[in-house]
Amino acid sequence: MEKKSIINNVSEFTFTSKEYVDFKKKIQKYLNPYQIKKIEKSLKLAQQAHKGQLRKTGEEYIFHPLSAASTLADFQLDHECLMAAILHDVIEDTEIEKENLKKTFGAKVSELVDGVSKLDKINFSTKEEADAANLRKMILAMSQDIRVILIKLADRKHNLETIEALKTEQRKKIGRETLDIFAPIALRLGIHSLNKELEDLSFRTVYPLRFKILQNEIIKSRGNRNELMEKIRNIIIKKLKDENLHTDVIAREKHVYGLYKKMKLKESKFSNINDLFGVRILTSSVDDCYRSLGVIHNLYTPIPGRFKDYIAIPKSNGYQSLHTSILGPHGLPIELQIRTNDMNILAESGIASHWFYKSKGISLKNYTKEQQWITNLLSIQRDSGNPKEYLQSIKADLHPGKVYVFTPKGNILELPKRSTIVDYAYAVHTDVGNKFTSARVDGKAVSPNTVLKNGQRVEIKIGNNNRPDPSWLSFVVTEKARHSIRVSLKLIKKNDAISLGKKLLNYSLSDFEIKLSDIPSKTLKLFLEEYSCNNINDLYAEIGLGNRIAKLVAMRLAPASPSQKTNPSGGIEIRGTEGLVVSYAKCCYPIPGDSIIGHISQDKGIVVHRQSCRGIKKIKKHDELLDLVWAKNIDDSFSACIKVEVENVRGVLAQISSQIAQNESNIESVTYDDTKESGHNIMVFVISVNNIKTLSSLINRLKKNKNVLNIERKKS
Ligand code: MN
Repeated sequence: MEKKSIINNVSEFTFTSKEYVDFKKKIQKYLNPYQIKKIEKSLKLAQQAHKGQLRKTGEEYIFHPLSAASTLADFQLDHECLMAAILHDVIEDTEIEKENLKKTFGAKVSELVDGVSKLDKINFSTKEEADAANLRKMILAMSQDIRVILIKLADRKHNLETIEALKTEQRKKIGRETLDIFAPIALRLGIHSLNKELEDLSFRTVYPLRFKILQNEIIKSRGNRNELMEKIRNIIIKKLKDENLHTDVIAREKHVYGLYKKMKLKESKFSNINDLFGVRILTSSVDDCYRSLGVIHNLYTPIPGRFKDYIAIPKSNGYQSLHTSILGPHGLPIELQIRTNDMNILAESGIASHWFYKSKGISLKNYTKEQQWITNLLSIQRDSGNPKEYLQSIKADLHPGKVYVFTPKGNILELPKRSTIVDYAYAVHTDVGNKFTSARVDGKAVSPNTVLKNGQRVEIKIGNNNRPDPSWLSFVVTEKARHSIRVSLKLIKKNDAISLGKKLLNYSLSDFEIKLSDIPSKTLKLFLEEYSCNNINDLYAEIGLGNRIAKLVAMRLAPASPSQKTNPSGGIEIRGTEGLVVSYAKCCYPIPGDSIIGHISQDKGIVVHRQSCRGIKKIKKHDELLDLVWAKNIDDSFSACIKVEVENVRGVLAQISSQIAQNESNIESVTYDDTKESGHNIMVFVISVNNIKTLSSLINRLKKNKNVLNIERKKS
């Protein structure tokens, strides 16, 4: 008697709460009274068991398992699964044991609860080995009964919804784990609605600021377009009705994390993402899908290349729908999805819809696809040599947009797909990227632009004097690499510009027979202010970059009555090590030994030309030209260009190339022109040589080749 009154007291609280009323409304739609009674019994037990326990939010504990069950009721999951969801924390957190549950609710429910309890002990954010072992356990549990993971996902959803009560560190850990493991699993199981909810909840948890900014942007643009979208929706509804098509037309909005991923992927701004909104049309038959599509394409102009027929050819996960994009009024692009109600249930709930169909006596053939995936995961486990390899394979499977590679120490590094060696180097550390010299992948030497594949082992060599190469910008894919290269190059360029600018200014000052140190500091200070430079280095940099002309600066700095003379030294010395502020003209390819002249070009610094270059003669403004001389004992290599006219015989290119290589010159590029009617071919080589002497000896050597008809250095 007494015991009964306790239960009655307890039930008074739970069963009148709004949460329970909502839940009951959901289950009454598809469960019979007997099943509902059993669920209520489990709820009574759970409430009793958790009595006195509070969530960190201060709420009665029972609301947590009730919420999980309610989420699962949205997918119309069977009563056993809902009972297990309600009881999911009792083994872990209360006195009740698995055996008690088995006696009261049967073997199925007790096994499900036991499975979830085991999953709860799994920690995914410790060491990688532990991660791998835990992931393996989870996949095993999942393969035994998929409902275990469904309960876990619903449990996780409520935990994230109430995560504010936890400490920051713990919050981030749970959020990351969800983005890393649970949300992708929901996606792979085809439960899109839950995947989106989990992604948004954990995105908000891990990156609160980014979430807020994006959400505000969405609300802002929603305000602008809501009316328009409603108008379009009504036009579509009316048109479909006119054609006797009975459909539901739903306006959709992208979820925040989906938008974030898209922006990251395309590196674009929010304002450039214009498929924020979409419309979904739900029909009762496949035939109506295609008829609706016809109506829509008649109504608005379809955007070419955007139509996809996933009804005729379903996606690998069984997803079926028609996709198209149209240009709505005011040129607003709108994404459209057209599918049957059944297809929609499958699309939104994936494997979770299995129980819904089962209850209707329909067995779903698409369900096997998800089952297949789990079987695959199990076989990966059997095939992988060690836990780390296993983790890498599973992560690669869960995140198809990522690539997972190993560091020399065997740690796993995650990178976006199509990442290169240079991306990897920068992912390890900015310094490793900046000082990168060479790399090996699985022991083999590779070029910096090599694209990484899953499971490769990457080794990077660095050198303290190395600098990022501007050409890397053409192939890196990660924002970190791109940004670091730019920042580093900017700094290097500024430093190069400072030393060149100093040299140029001193050279020009020597025309007036003074040095910078002769100028009174007061005069210099006023002068710097006038030129809006903070210090003398800023002025040097401006000169070095070619934004100010050294001669003019020198004239201003020199005393009022200058005794200008011709500089006795003959020109500024170029040694080839000036870096990013001295470049060599591609029209005449000057090399040491040539008489040279410089042209100062804005932001580029000095461009070196040969004195005989026709290109330079066109530049009339004398002020911008600069006398240059090569420094002595340069041992760098420079690009030179030669034009070789040859007899059109087989293997002539190979012949010439090997002769060039024998001369210890590298071929940088070759263009081959065999359209000449004369039967002769012209080959243009860009090669790297030390100086004019090595080039002449190469030319002489090539002249001896009987197939070579003529050879000359390319003039501009
Ligand atoms: Mn829980």
